[in-house]
Amino acid sequence: MTKLQNTSDLQNAHKLRIQFDRLRDDVLNLSAFGSDPDGGITRHAFSEPYEKARSWLKSRMTEADMDAHDDLAGNTICRLSPLEGPCVLSGSHIDTVPNGGPLDGTYGVLAALEVARTLKDSGLQLPMGFEVCAFVEEEGRYLDCMGAKAITGDLNKEDVMTAVDPNGETLSTVMLNAGFQPENAHRAQRDDIATYVELHIEQGPILEHNKCSVGIVVGIAGIQQHRITFDGQPDHAGTTPLELRHDAFAATAEYAFRAREMVKEMDASGSARFTIGDIQLRPGAANVVPSHVIAIQEIRDISAAKIEDITQRCKELADEITVRYDVPIQFEDMAYTAPVAMDDAISTVIAGAALRLNHPTHDMPSGAGHDAQVIAKIAPSGMIFVPSNGGRSHCPEEWTEWRDLEIGANVLLQTVVDLLWQQTTDEES
Ligand SMILES: [Zn+2]
Repeated sequence: MTKLQNTSDLQNAHKLRIQFDRLRDDVLNLSAFGSDPDGGITRHAFSEPYEKARSWLKSRMTEADMDAHDDLAGNTICRLSPLEGPCVLSGSHIDTVPNGGPLDGTYGVLAALEVARTLKDSGLQLPMGFEVCAFVEEEGRYLDCMGAKAITGDLNKEDVMTAVDPNGETLSTVMLNAGFQPENAHRAQRDDIATYVELHIEQGPILEHNKCSVGIVVGIAGIQQHRITFDGQPDHAGTTPLELRHDAFAATAEYAFRAREMVKEMDASGSARFTIGDIQLRPGAANVVPSHVIAIQEIRDISAAKIEDITQRCKELADEITVRYDVPIQFEDMAYTAPVAMDDAISTVIAGAALRLNHPTHDMPSGAGHDAQVIAKIAPSGMIFVPSNGGRSHCPEEWTEWRDLEIGANVLLQTVVDLLWQQTTDEES
């Protein structure tokens, strides 16, 4: 009987669609908190505009007849009944980078809220709880993905007490000002999240380029940074023939060009990224052969093995260039963040939901970090992307067409529906 009931509930839930007007109004209204005079939005975690946005969000949750609360770390949460037991969780963040855009993170939170409202309005009895979460401090003004890490038990109390922003403001002060106890933030750990799904703007150009409204994230890229030092010799630029120089910049330039070509050749899947984004050159005079270059190189991919492989090939290339230019090259490992795979089963559910709604999907890596990469440690997690106009993000120009925002929210709704019902069916069978 329960199962029959569940089956017909699921069929009814499959017919549900979000109310786009509510979502659009929420996106426009939330954009006002922290809006900069010349465009863009600055809403750092625990700042005054953030706390106003938090209050606004909680009042929207309450209006929808759900209890809104903040956990010990400052994550803002509401839940649809059943209020006890495991839940399907969806959300993202409402903090921004300085002078950021209106959709990064906020779209995922507001769409999850609209999904909750739609489920609530349907009157259907959910087989398990559904929660909406605005994870605090995703952007890492003080501590990267602080709220999500608190939930997974990866937040270190010492880190919270000592974290400062670029202006020297301490995290503990802004938390206290916002009414939170910093020494308790690490106690927000949970073990009742059955699955997690996050909807986010792509923040890159791939979906727009492929004319596809729905991306399914297969993994979140890991990042390996290297500091590469090229040690040449300063010589007179007028008297030293080219073949007798130890030109650190010429070596760097050839390395940068060939490494990039090599990564392109190795990268059949198109998921790898290779960037030399910072370079210091000495002595830095037009009439002296450059003697010393420090280049910061960043390799990203969703496969740890591929990052390792690219690193190895870069080192071999550096050895070859050392000989050719007689310029010793040193490789130093800097920061490393491991890639995180999204759960295949959840990606299949997302694909099924999109198919039901007649939207083609595109499997893709995420080059940017997200709350999902943290939550994936404790719960099977998946991510849905919608296109970013011109691939722009973290800037005032960040935008996505309303039509795509509506499509993404409906794909999220239908994914959540399947996750809610699928798990009960699985347990019963
Ligand atoms: Zn984000």
